[in-house]
Amino acid sequence: MRTIPAADKLATTEDTGDTEHKTFTERYFPRCPPFPPWWRACSIVLLVALLSGPASAQIDRVTIRVDAPIAIIGARLIDGSGTRPIDDSVVVVEDDRIRAAGPRARVQVPRGATVVDATGKFLLPGLVDVHCHINQPPEDMKRYWMAQLRWGVTTMRSAGNDKPETVPLFRQTRSPRQSSVQAGAFLSPRAYTAGQGFNVSGPYPGAPTFKPKTPDEARSNVQNLKAQNVDFIKIWMTNPMFPPDVIAAIVDEGKKQGIPVIAHVTDVASLHQLADQGVTDFLHNPIDQPVTPELVAYAKGKKLTFAPTLANIESRWFYYEHPDILSMPMLQDALYPRGRQMLADAARKEQTLSAPDLAQRKARMREQTYPFIKAMSDAGVRVVTGTDCGAEASQVTPFGHATHREVQMFVEAGMSALTAIRAATLDAARVITRSEDPEYGSIRAGKVADLLLLDADPTFDINNTIKINNVMRAGRWITQTDRAAIANDFP
Ligand SMILES: [Zn+2]
Repeated sequence: MRTIPAADKLATTEDTGDTEHKTFTERYFPRCPPFPPWWRACSIVLLVALLSGPASAQIDRVTIRVDAPIAIIGARLIDGSGTRPIDDSVVVVEDDRIRAAGPRARVQVPRGATVVDATGKFLLPGLVDVHCHINQPPEDMKRYWMAQLRWGVTTMRSAGNDKPETVPLFRQTRSPRQSSVQAGAFLSPRAYTAGQGFNVSGPYPGAPTFKPKTPDEARSNVQNLKAQNVDFIKIWMTNPMFPPDVIAAIVDEGKKQGIPVIAHVTDVASLHQLADQGVTDFLHNPIDQPVTPELVAYAKGKKLTFAPTLANIESRWFYYEHPDILSMPMLQDALYPRGRQMLADAARKEQTLSAPDLAQRKARMREQTYPFIKAMSDAGVRVVTGTDCGAEASQVTPFGHATHREVQMFVEAGMSALTAIRAATLDAARVITRSEDPEYGSIRAGKVADLLLLDADPTFDINNTIKINNVMRAGRWITQTDRAAIANDFP
């Protein structure tokens, strides 16, 4: 058993050989000891080899990870479910899955495991952001995904503005063995897309959104999205709005095609309009009137979910006020070039921070949204992390860090740290997958090993979520090499 201190753990993946390019015999037989846990991996390899037929050339093309299980030992485990953290935990990762997780006394470390000493550290599931945008050329999308991953966001949903030609890329991020280094594979969060989306006039000039004029046209657009194989349909309920019969056609055709609808909503009437037609997942929240017990009861009755998306509002001033965060290379890498320029512009900064209405804008954001978050969350209505990161229209909402800000603001709004972390992990995964028991979002046996290892306790201070020690995506640590690859050739 090899022990690797967490501080040096960046080398672990390289050390163990994430994917080895050896001959069939070299690759599999010498490393097959007679006892678990290796026998499983070896027998899978043999099975694949047998099923692949007799030609060895064929077998050699099969890429199987042969790294040892990883045991992360000694961390305080915050498993994403909102339950009490487990001190001095053991989490065993094998291939892309969590094989076991719990107190040290109850979890056995497998023979041959690579041990990561995480004493004094804090282990969370990777974060989930249900409201992003990433309408960029494919190679840039990969870079921004990597930037997001480095911030510990292991799942993201792009809520509209995605061109048809990029939809297959989203699928690729969720293919089995995504994290293995295979031809054409790349490391990224698990990513979903709402494709082009429906917006009457935007959300920005030149956006590739559908703008149907009639119900028939709306249905044909939804069929087009079905053919593209998108994961969701996005409707912006912004002014100017689609006529009600067009909205009804989008929602109804979405149901027929089996594609869930998500919607940008900032007023109570639009919320009712869509929720009465069966839409449950909302981005932003009604701000045209204060939250009432009736609205909470309605949301609870209809099982609505909300991603308030505060980070996008706050980012207009937050990064100017926090040059320490803005100057982090990881933050710079997570901004589009234009956003980076805007945030580096001293005159713009001065103008923003000295604006007479800044205090009012901050107060308005809190007054309109914090009571909503608190009331809904206390009532058991799902409020989850979404940020508008990567939104073309704003430019200054970075990938990754914005998700942390959203969690932090949930706590400012009155959620407990554990509830806010659940909102950013298990609950957000539940919203995306529409399943109560998603295969990611929590640290439980059998779940995908998407992990965020922190150097400081987020239950003591939620701002500690950005004290990132390392990130694991599907069983693979994000290594220094991965980081360098993106930092060096970033635009
Ligand atoms: Zn958005």
